[in-house]
Amino acid sequence: MRIGVIGVAGRMGSLIAEEVLAAGHALSGGTERAGSGHVIPEGVRVFDDVPALAAASDAVIDFTHAAVAAVHAEALAASSSAWILGTTGLSPADDAAVARAAQRIPVVQSPNFGPGVTLLLALAEQLGAALPAAKYDAEILEMHHNQKVDAPSGTAVGLGRAVARGRGVRLEDVMASGRDGHTGPRQPGAIGFAALRGGNVVGEHTVLFAAGAEHIALTHRAFDRRMFATGAVRAAAWTEGKPPGLYSMKDVMGVG
Ligand code: NAD
Repeated sequence: MRIGVIGVAGRMGSLIAEEVLAAGHALSGGTERAGSGHVIPEGVRVFDDVPALAAASDAVIDFTHAAVAAVHAEALAASSSAWILGTTGLSPADDAAVARAAQRIPVVQSPNFGPGVTLLLALAEQLGAALPAAKYDAEILEMHHNQKVDAPSGTAVGLGRAVARGRGVRLEDVMASGRDGHTGPRQPGAIGFAALRGGNVVGEHTVLFAAGAEHIALTHRAFDRRMFATGAVRAAAWTEGKPPGLYSMKDVMGVG
């Protein structure tokens, strides 16, 4: 398969280019924003713009910036390339542009292309559905490096949403985050969050169901951002022969 990488000199873009080749695909080339200061990986053919890259590719992978998501949506909708979109921070208007493009081409969009986290999300939802909220207290624990500025992490919130979905409730109605001081006893059915910060931890997430007689905990530890690149390439390969539509990493993993 011919796979192109938009923003090929970015941190994710350069890892994705490596993973395209490691998976035995043809790297059609990439684009890079003029004056970005990033160094193009050696041997990568650079195209002038996204339409030119798309014309030479069966799928393009895009981990760039929300500011260009709608522009890319319009360009790719007019192409016959699939679009693997990992950029985060999209506005509702950007999401609408992505959905319009998905009427023309296969689009796989996910805030986390890690195959392991995708499975963890699916399992969290299953456990949420299977274990009664009145008996099993759900807590989500995450740890990240000391430079992370927001908490809880997007993935932790995603896990909370998955448990809430399994329980048929809205996370917003049951979220218990940042406990401190005299908080009173735990509310039945609450989904709790705790965030640790320290060192250079790439990302650790645990979803814990605690009952009087047993605990069940699932933990995912990320050691390297490369897992996102591996997942994105897997998603690109999965689009081969797929009809237009908006797909997620769950669809790619067969747990949707
Ligand atoms: P980075 O800054 O290293 O690279 C960004 C790339 O986008 C560069 O190639 C840069 O030139 C390009 N770019 C930035 N602004 C642009 C603009 N206005 N127009 C065109 N190109 C532009 O960043 P990164 O760490 O590689 O992350 C890129 C994106 O991927 C972020 O949105 C990040 O949150 C997201 N991300 C998603 C996942 C996932 O699994 N979905 C995982 C990791 C990162």
